[in-house]
Amino acid sequence: MPQPTRLLLKNIGHLVTMDPGRRVLRGRAWLLAEDGVVRSLGDGPAPRPAGAEVVDARGGIALPGLVNTHHHMFQNLARAFGPIANLPLLPWLAGHMPLWRRFGPDDLHVATQVACAELMLSGCTLTSDHHYLFPRDGSDRMLDAGFAAAAEMGIRYVGCRGSVNLPSDIMPDWACQDLDTILGDCQRLHDRFHQKGPGAMSQVAFAPCTVFGCSGEHYRQSARLGRSLGVRLHTHCGETIPENHDAVKMLGSRPFSYMARHGWEGEDVWLAHGIHFNDREVRHLTRTRTGIAHCPCSNMRLGSGVARVNDLRGGGSPVSLGVDGSASNDSGHLLAEARLALLLTRVVHGAGAVTPEQVLEMATLDGARNLGRQADLGSLEPGKCADVAVFPLDDLFSSGAHDPVHGLVLCHARQVDTLVVHGRVRVREGHLVGVDLPKLLARHRKVARRHHDGGVKGSLANLR
Ligand SMILES: [Zn+2]
Repeated sequence: MPQPTRLLLKNIGHLVTMDPGRRVLRGRAWLLAEDGVVRSLGDGPAPRPAGAEVVDARGGIALPGLVNTHHHMFQNLARAFGPIANLPLLPWLAGHMPLWRRFGPDDLHVATQVACAELMLSGCTLTSDHHYLFPRDGSDRMLDAGFAAAAEMGIRYVGCRGSVNLPSDIMPDWACQDLDTILGDCQRLHDRFHQKGPGAMSQVAFAPCTVFGCSGEHYRQSARLGRSLGVRLHTHCGETIPENHDAVKMLGSRPFSYMARHGWEGEDVWLAHGIHFNDREVRHLTRTRTGIAHCPCSNMRLGSGVARVNDLRGGGSPVSLGVDGSASNDSGHLLAEARLALLLTRVVHGAGAVTPEQVLEMATLDGARNLGRQADLGSLEPGKCADVAVFPLDDLFSSGAHDPVHGLVLCHARQVDTLVVHGRVRVREGHLVGVDLPKLLARHRKVARRHHDGGVKGSLANLR
């Protein structure tokens, strides 16, 4: 019989388990992983398992790998895009579209690698990527590149097959596909990439873009196919006030009612942003345990509004964190997002409205729940996957912090010292293992320049 692969993380200053008792082990805590799964953990003398790789956490703070539940990774090729930097969501989106006219799988590959690098260094071990850009005359294997790039980086990846079937001022004809093509690709991606069961590294979700770009039939059939395959459902909802007004005008109802009528409610659905819900909608969402991906940075950047996080979480809906696309963030740092989630809620509801522990729950447990992974991810307990982020406590940003758990959220966001995904070290001493980052970034800048130079004229025209 082959020997199990063992990893011992030792000398952990604070081990935040997120287990049901929310234990934090202090002192010289340790965690032993075998074949990708947590075998044991404790705060006494560390075991000395034969043949184990040993990583010294150097007194840092360890917690379950963070979970990112909303992203558009391709957008990191257009961070801080000048001509539209100060616009709200809809004109901002329209202004971006000319950049993407000739977007292809190689572009998505490099963008995904950079996005994953940024996320991993910020403590993320499981991410989703809502990819809705499928130029009609382009490749029919677009999202395959995202899956390949994430696998090379070693992060868990949920490729959300985005889709648009109705052309509009925002999403022109070239960005739309017919429903048969969309559903056929959903099925193909499921067959090729969707792993089932504990420890899955790659999964798919079905993700029509918005009620304005997707017909009711599109939503209904995506939900039906997803549920027949055990695949989760993701879409945008409630991001802006104009979205609610326009939906009433064009569809006869507010976006969430429209979606719910087509089956988009329940524990297998999570909605990006979820800002502008009325009381009745909040009750409907919480009663059905529909999830929300809260994206505070993007919501502030585009001036979209503030999500009703406490009402939704208090009622029983999981509210997880999402960095959102890198053109409306303009970064992908998940620990920074947790900090912003705390600060934004406090701006509206006061200092007592949310604690650092609560936003860490959103970044771990609620994230795992929204991606359907509460059985194997989100906390560090024997039997769950060994996905661990270790942040330093002897760095500039946390120097002098009294409470390291609070400091993780309240102090300026820092990068991990160590990142472990499924028992494998993916970041060691602050560096991605097996990734030539300067070379990757040079390639990424080149691709970004090409799209920028090709699309900037069209973008300005779109604004007129
Ligand atoms: Zn989005």
